[in-house]
Amino acid sequence: MKNKLLEVKNLSKNYHTKMGEVKAIDNISFDVYEGEFLCIIGPSGCGKSTVLNILANLDDKSSGDIIQNKKLKVGYMLQEDALFPWLNILDNALLGLNIRHELTPDNIAYTKCLLEKYGLKDFLEKYPHQLSGGMRQRVALIRTLATKPDILLLDEPFSALDYVSRLSVSEDVSDIIKSEHKTVVMITHDISEALSLADRIIVLSKRPSVIKNVYEINISGNTPMERRKAKNFGEYYNELWRDLDKNV
Ligand code: ADP
Ligand code: MG
Repeated sequence: MKNKLLEVKNLSKNYHTKMGEVKAIDNISFDVYEGEFLCIIGPSGCGKSTVLNILANLDDKSSGDIIQNKKLKVGYMLQEDALFPWLNILDNALLGLNIRHELTPDNIAYTKCLLEKYGLKDFLEKYPHQLSGGMRQRVALIRTLATKPDILLLDEPFSALDYVSRLSVSEDVSDIIKSEHKTVVMITHDISEALSLADRIIVLSKRPSVIKNVYEINISGNTPMERRKAKNFGEYYNELWRDLDKNV
C-alpha cells in the first residue's frame, strides 16, 4: 500500500496588496505519497509557486491544513541554481548543511560521495563559472540532497536552461532522484517535462487556482527520454493540453 507522506487539505491563499486582495489559490486538496514523483502543472501566474512555498514553510497559508504523519524535512530547489560564485563546488554543495549547523564528518563524506557518484569528482575545487549550466544544476540538487530531506520540492528546476541542456539535466535529475529513492513535488508549466518525469500530475486552473484534474501516469521507459518516445506519451499530452488550453 502507498504510504501517505503528507496531506494538503482545503488550502487557500489570498495575497493582500495595495491594489486589494489577490486570491491565488482556492481550496486545493491533494496527498503526496512516499517515493512518488508528483508534478503540479498550470498556467503562468496560477499559484504554483505559492503552493510550493507554503509546503516549504516559506509562506503562510490563508486557510486549510497541511497534515504530516511525522515532521518532514523539506529540501527546496529553485529555478536558478543559486550557487555562490565565490565558493568552490564542494563548499557550495555543503552550504545547506552549513546553514543548518550539520557539518558533521559523516554528512561531509555523504556529500562528497554524492558529488563523486554523479560525475563531479574532478570539480570539487572548481568554481561555478567553470561548470556548464547542467552541472551547476546537479550541484544545486546535491546540495539539497546532502541535508537528507524526506521530500524534495522543485520549482521549475530546468526553466533557466536552454532546451538541449534541459533534456540532459532532466535525465540526470531523474537518475539521481530514483537512485536516492526520494519523494518529489515538482512544479512546471511544461507538459512534456511533466510527462517525462511524473508518476502523477495535478493540473491547476488559472488563478484563483483550483484542481482541474489529476492523472496517474503510466508511460513505459526507465528514463525521461525513453518515456518521451513511448506510444501513449502523445495521448497524455493531448489530454493535458486540452486541460490547459481551455484556460479556465
Ligand atoms: P506561478 O508560480 O503559478 O507562476 P505564483 O504562485 O508565483 O504563480 O503567483 C500566483 C499569483 O499570486 C500571481 O497572480 C502573483 O502575481 C500573485 N502573487 C505571488 N506572490 C505574491 C506576493 N508576495 N504578493 C502579492 N501577490 C503575489
Ligand atoms: Mg512560479
